[in-house]
Amino acid sequence: MTTDTKKGPPKRGRTRGGPEVKKMIDKPMLDDLSPKNNAFEFAEAGFAVLPLHGVDARGRCGCGKAGCPHPGKHPHAALVRHGLKDASVDLDEIEAWFDRFADLNYGIVTDELHVIDLDPRNGGTESWRKLIRKHADIHSWRVQTGGGGQHVFCRAPQKPLGCGKLAPGIDFKGVGGYVVGVGSLHEFGRRYRWFADCSAYELELEPLPKWIIDELEKKTPADVIGQQVQRAPAFYSELVAPASEGVRNECMTKLVGHLFGSLHPDRAVLFELVRCWNLIHCSPPLDDEEVFRIAGSIARREDDKRRGRA
Ligand SMILES: [Zn+2]
Repeated sequence: MTTDTKKGPPKRGRTRGGPEVKKMIDKPMLDDLSPKNNAFEFAEAGFAVLPLHGVDARGRCGCGKAGCPHPGKHPHAALVRHGLKDASVDLDEIEAWFDRFADLNYGIVTDELHVIDLDPRNGGTESWRKLIRKHADIHSWRVQTGGGGQHVFCRAPQKPLGCGKLAPGIDFKGVGGYVVGVGSLHEFGRRYRWFADCSAYELELEPLPKWIIDELEKKTPADVIGQQVQRAPAFYSELVAPASEGVRNECMTKLVGHLFGSLHPDRAVLFELVRCWNLIHCSPPLDDEEVFRIAGSIARREDDKRRGRA
C-alpha cells in the first residue's frame, strides 16, 4: 500500500500555492498513510511542512527523552534547528529528512491554512457541537487525529490570524503554529487519517468562516485565566517557595498540578517553567529527567481527569 518511491524524483521550484489552493490535485491517497508521501502532498500544494520526531511501536518518542511531554509531536531539532522557521515546501529537502530518519512524523505549518483543533478529552466535541448549532458547520478538509480528536482545516483569511483558544477543548492554530499531519503515528498507535468524504481530494478548502473570527476575538487571555479558582495569596506563595531535599518532589508535583490544571499551558512551556523553578529554588535541584517525569505524569493525570469529565 505504502510506496515511498511512488512519487518519483522530487520536483523543485513549484510555485507556492498556499491560500490559493482549493483542492489537492494529485490522485487520491486516502489509503496511503505514509508520512513522507502525505508530507509531499501538502508541500506540493504549497503548504510548508516540518519534520517531527516519530514514535516507536510502544509509543515512545524518537527524541529518546524519558517522559517526553509531546511524544511524536515536536520538531526534530537535528533537522530543523530553528523549528518552524525551517519548515519547507522543497521536495528535495523533505525527501532528505525522511532519508536520514525513516520514522519521522511531520507537521503542517498553519500560517496559510488555519486549523480548528478539537480535543474530545477536554470537552472539545461538546464545545464544537454548541458552536455549530449556534452558527454553522464547516464543510472543509477534516482529519481524525491519532489521539481521537479532529482537525478542521480552513483557508486563512486575507489577514491571517494567530493561534488561540476557541472554546474549552478547542484550540485554534493560525500563524506561528502547526498541526501533526495525516499519516503521522500517534503515541496511542493510531495514524492521523482523513475523515471519509472530507479529504483534500474530495472537498475544497473552505475559507475560514467569519463566525470563527468573531468567536476568537471574544476570547482573551483574561477569559482563560478568569476560569481558575481564586485562592488565598498564601497558597500561591507556598507553591513557589524554596524546597529542600525530602520535599522537592512533593512541592514540584503541587506546582505542576496547579500550572497544568488552571492554566493548561503547552507542555513544553510547562516543562521549562518548572525546570527554572527547580534550578532556582530546589536545593539541590532535581535532575532534568526527574522534572520531565513529574511534569509528564501530572499532565497525564490532568488529561485523565478531563477525560472523565468529558
Ligand atoms: Zn520527544
